[in-house]
Amino acid sequence: MEAKKVLIVFAHQSSGSFTASAKNAAVEVLTAQGCTVEVSDLYAMNFKAAATVEDIKGDIKEAENFNYLKETRLAWEEKRLSDDITKEQAKLTQADLVIFQFPMYWFSVPGILKGWFDRVLTSGFAFSQEKLYSQGVFTDKKAMLSFTTGSLESMFSPTGVNGDMNVTLWPLQNGILHYCGFQVLAPQIFWAPSSASPEVRQSMLEGWRTRLQGLREEKPLSFIPLDCFDKKCFQLKPDVQEKHANKEFGMTVGTHMGKAPPPHSQMKAGC
Ligand SMILES: Cc1cc2nc3c(=O)[nH]c(=O)nc-3n(C[C@H](O)[C@H](O)[C@H](O)COP(=O)(O)OP(=O)(O)OC[C@H]3O[C@@H](n4cnc5c(N)ncnc54)[C@H](O)[C@@H]3O)c2cc1C
Repeated sequence: MEAKKVLIVFAHQSSGSFTASAKNAAVEVLTAQGCTVEVSDLYAMNFKAAATVEDIKGDIKEAENFNYLKETRLAWEEKRLSDDITKEQAKLTQADLVIFQFPMYWFSVPGILKGWFDRVLTSGFAFSQEKLYSQGVFTDKKAMLSFTTGSLESMFSPTGVNGDMNVTLWPLQNGILHYCGFQVLAPQIFWAPSSASPEVRQSMLEGWRTRLQGLREEKPLSFIPLDCFDKKCFQLKPDVQEKHANKEFGMTVGTHMGKAPPPHSQMKAGC
């Protein structure tokens, strides 16, 4: 099998954490498969999380009405982004597969990882008005979320106190990863390792090791192809709506057409 390049974006403060063990397992298994694995250890790098004017070298075009999106787009075109952003973009350009390894914070990612998304996925580099979703910049790359929770699985269910995990994942998997074109692999969720026994924690890591063996052959999650939407108003085309009018579930968690969202669609391929 052809050797592949993997980038792991790792966001945990402690090398003794369960999250670090999950990251180490991925480095070991994928390296043993002949992959080149690079790790961006965000806390160790003291990665800057805030998107600010300091992310741009040289002149700011409209300093009085600073617009981060426009100014970083221009800076990317003119190779004037700060060195830390440029380095991460180079790693991302090289990678065939990106694994984001983190503990869930507030139903989302830790701020330092959100900062990586905000700053590294610059307009022009990661998306544009013409290049988005299934026609996005990174359609030849795969990406996945691998994360730990404090909550039990039952709490993140359609009848659970936190609600359906498929809904929680939608902004991250659709709004960031798929938006930039990535083929999104099913997430790896380590449910509540802090509440589990050492044996259960070990078996969670063994399960992850087993999954990693076949990870690069996995089919991605399903999203609606961009050409199902009208290019002017970005609404589902009438014929697509008609085709799904009598179906029990909506097309995706977000574009649900007023129906119940399709079960497991953000958790399992083929749903
Ligand atoms: C700001 C904030 C917001 C949060 N928001 C949410 C939220 O919205 N939803 C939610 O569910 N949770 C939330 N949490 C909880 C958080 O997600 C969990 O605390 C975290 O995911 C646990 O993962 P960890 O890697 O830090 O676990 P750790 O505490 O590091 O690990 C658990 C145990 O595993 C042990 N361990 C480490 N390596 C191994 C190994 N190789 N084999 C066996 N055992 C090992 C560790 O020693 C430890 O005893 C939040 C926490 C914070 C701080």
